[in-house]
Amino acid sequence: MTPEQLLQGLLQGTAPVQRRAMAKAITLLESTRADHRLQADELLTGLLPHTGKSFRLGISGVPGVGKSTFIEALGLYLIGQGHRVAVLAVDPSSTVSGGSILGDKTRMEHLSVHPDAYIRPSPSSGTLGGVAEKTREAMLVCEAAGYDVVIVETVGVGQSETAVANMTDMFCLLQLPNAGDDLQAIKKGVMEIADLVVINKADIDANAAMRAEAQITSALRLLGMHGRESVHPEDHASVRPEPSTVRPELVDSVRPELVEGQPGAIQASTGSARTEQSSARTERWHPKVVKISALLGQGVDAFWAAVTEFKALQTANGKFALRREQQALAWMWERIEAGLKQSFRTQAAVRQLLPQLSLQVSQGQVAASTAARQLLAAYTDRFTVRAEPVEALLSSTTSPSTGSGRTGTVSSGRTGG
Ligand code: GDP
Repeated sequence: MTPEQLLQGLLQGTAPVQRRAMAKAITLLESTRADHRLQADELLTGLLPHTGKSFRLGISGVPGVGKSTFIEALGLYLIGQGHRVAVLAVDPSSTVSGGSILGDKTRMEHLSVHPDAYIRPSPSSGTLGGVAEKTREAMLVCEAAGYDVVIVETVGVGQSETAVANMTDMFCLLQLPNAGDDLQAIKKGVMEIADLVVINKADIDANAAMRAEAQITSALRLLGMHGRESVHPEDHASVRPEPSTVRPELVDSVRPELVEGQPGAIQASTGSARTEQSSARTERWHPKVVKISALLGQGVDAFWAAVTEFKALQTANGKFALRREQQALAWMWERIEAGLKQSFRTQAAVRQLLPQLSLQVSQGQVAASTAARQLLAAYTDRFTVRAEPVEALLSSTTSPSTGSGRTGTVSSGRTGG
């Protein structure tokens, strides 16, 4: 199938045609073959105008906490409310073992056979960055096919939680009603990226669940997380966009509230009285804690009410759109960095120099920074020979109607990618 045919199938196909097109599109996006990658980019470009309309929900928790039981209960609840639900997964262990546990259809018996649900296991090869990239692209496929709630699941180990928080609108952490667990999550810093903490298995011991709720609520307060930005600035620190290439409100992703007059900007608290509208704009989300029993289906409605409240608040204060814009840009930079690294490692001059210099660095004969400079010089050498003036490059990427082409701007219409 060509990218065009896949797109038609996704957007207009009957249910079975659409399902097949989704599977084929995701397989194409997951392929590492260079010719497939070109087709995949064509498909993504076609998809993009049809994406971005879903709610993207990240769910994490240690194995056994009840993720699949909860997603099954939540998915069926949402379908009952008229939604279409896609479940994707980022499974860091799959990159090591080559197998995927998360998102396995057998874990969600009823949801997986429902016509309004689509479940896709984690891509099973590549680095975490690569797996996250594929999942992010699969999310776009689901959105184009009309799934309006996309759940991205991950396990509570390592960096995968940050990766999922960075591709979703809201990040939820599932916890057991047990103190050791809570402290562990706090220690790992996972709690600070959660917009909502869900205490599951409250049916087993209601008192323990209550204690956990109080403990986590006060931990969130103690750690000063109430009222923090729901976009996680530190995660973007290494992939911060170049200031000159982005809109001003996106430049300071750490403190958007300091960018005056921009979405998410905080009005001065002194001076003239605030209008109701401005207070809605400045109100922040305070991470909540909810108790549920996924097994008994208790608390799923309260969970979704909290999600709905979060979405309404983030939309009113401008952070919903801002988070997506920041995610898209951070994602672009992450991919650029990954691409550059790959290009660097495979370049002939670098490959020739690398083993010897690595040895010398490890034996303390050459300073690491000196070796890095030599390797970078060898790498950039090939560019400096045929470097074109920047103006020439810019004018070749802009349409003739934009005149001199010096601006080189890119349309920022979509925020879904
Ligand atoms: P996952 O590894 O996080 O996906 O966890 P599962 O959903 O597979 O659940 C692990 C085990 O916990 C299963 O035996 C579930 O039946 C059980 N479980 C999940 N949720 C609850 C709950 O709310 N209450 C009780 N009592 N058991 C639960």
